[in-house]
Amino acid sequence: MRSAFFMLGVLLCASFSGLVSAEQEWPGEPIDNHVHLTWATLTLEVNEWADDNPDIVDLTSTGQSELGKTLWVVRLSDWSMETKANGSAKEIIYIDGGHHGNEYLGTALAWLSAKWYINGWNDGNEEAIQVLQNSEIHILIMLNPDGNDIDTRWNINQVDLNRNYDHYWNTCPTTQPGSSAFSESETAANSNYMNTEVPDADLYVTMHTGVWIMLYPWGKWPEQPSDWELFHYIRDDVHESISDIPIQNANQGLYPNCGTSRDYGYGVMGYPTFTFETDDEQFVPGTFESLHDRLGEEMDVMRYLIDNVWYWRARLVLDELLVDDEDVTYTISNLGHASTRNATLQYIDGTNILWESNNFTANATDSFTATSSGFPSVEGGEWRLSYQKRVVDSAQWVNETVELSTLEVYSFSNSDITLLWILQFGALPLFVICFAFWWSREEKPFQLGDAEPLDAELVD
Ligand SMILES: [Zn+2]
Repeated sequence: MRSAFFMLGVLLCASFSGLVSAEQEWPGEPIDNHVHLTWATLTLEVNEWADDNPDIVDLTSTGQSELGKTLWVVRLSDWSMETKANGSAKEIIYIDGGHHGNEYLGTALAWLSAKWYINGWNDGNEEAIQVLQNSEIHILIMLNPDGNDIDTRWNINQVDLNRNYDHYWNTCPTTQPGSSAFSESETAANSNYMNTEVPDADLYVTMHTGVWIMLYPWGKWPEQPSDWELFHYIRDDVHESISDIPIQNANQGLYPNCGTSRDYGYGVMGYPTFTFETDDEQFVPGTFESLHDRLGEEMDVMRYLIDNVWYWRARLVLDELLVDDEDVTYTISNLGHASTRNATLQYIDGTNILWESNNFTANATDSFTATSSGFPSVEGGEWRLSYQKRVVDSAQWVNETVELSTLEVYSFSNSDITLLWILQFGALPLFVICFAFWWSREEKPFQLGDAEPLDAELVD
C-alpha cells in the first residue's frame, strides 16, 4: 500500500514539479520508498547555504559519524555583529535532528528551521532579521547520517543514539543503549558541541517523529521537573495562541526512557529542553506535500520558542536599593518566565565579595522587597546579582553587574542620619519659635518709615 502511494507520489511529483517552487521542495530524492534527504544531498545543500549567505550562515562540524560522515552544524546569526546592538550577548539556541535515521519528518523540521530564517533574512522578513540580529541558532540537522542513509532507527553499530547519553544511562527498560554512555561517535560529538560551543544556550530542541507531541523533561521520572513553571507557561501559551499539540512530561506523555539527549540537555547542561515529535507518522507519506505546508504549524511553534528565547530563564533586575547604615533593602523583579533559588545581591570589589544578602528565591514574572543586614561601611564597591538561570541544579550561574544609574538609590551614613533627625525633629520647635517671634511683632506693623533710624545708624 505504501509503495502504491509512493508511485502515485512520484507520478504527481513528475507531473507537477514545475508548479512547486524550489523553496518548498524537500531537497532529497526518493529512496527506499520514502522521500528522503540523504547525507550527500544535505552536504551539498548546507555548503551552498554557506557559500550563498556568508553574512548569516557559518557552517561547521562537530566530528564524524561511525562511518566517517561529517556531522554538519549550520550556525545562523547576523555575523556582522558579535553582540546585540546594545552590546549585550546574543541569546543561543541549539537544535538537533535525525537521532533516529528513519524519522524523516523530525530531520525535516530541523532542516526547515534553518531554511525559514535563511529565506526570511533574504526576503527582508522583519521577524527573521530581529532573531538573527539578537540570537545565534545552531542546528545539527542530521545526527545519524549512517542510519539515515539506510533508513533505520539505529546507527551503524545498531545502537539507539537517543538512549546513549550520559544521564542515568541504561537505567530504564530499554533496547540497544550501546556498550556505555557516549560509546558512539555521534552522541559523543553532540555532547561535545553542547559543552564547548553552546554551554549557555537558553533553548534546546531535539527533533523526532512518530507521535505528534512535545515532550519536556523528565523521561527518567514521572515527577514534574524543577522548572515546571517555565514548561507549563510555554505549554499554556502555545495552546492559547499557536497549536493544540500535546505538551507533556516525557515519562508520562510517552513512556519511561533514560539516557536521552533531552534529559541530558536539561539534567546535565541545564537547558530548557523539548523533544519535538513532529507527526503521527514515522515515515514520510507517499503523497507529495511541501514541507512548509506539512510542518507549517510545527514551524509556528518553533518560531514562538525562538522569538521568545530571552524569557526562557530567570532575568533579575534590581529596581530599588536603600542602604541604611548596616541594613540593605532591595526590590528585585524577575522578568523571565523561569524561577531561581539561592540568589544573592552582592557588593563586590573586583573579585572580592565585600557583602552579600541572604539567599532569596525569585519567582517567575514576580517582584519582591527584602532587607539584609551586616553591610560594611566601605565605599567604591560595585553591586551585582548572582543567580542561577533556572531552578534545576545544572542550570548555569550568572553574575550580572547592576547599573546604579538606572535605579533609585537611597544611601544614609551615620552623619546623614543625625542630620535627618535634626531636620525631622528639630524643625517643629524651630518653627514654633519663629512663629512666636513674628506674632510678638504683629502689634507694631512694619512701616516704611521704620527703616530710617536703622539707615541713620549705619551712616554713623
Ligand atoms: Zn526518534
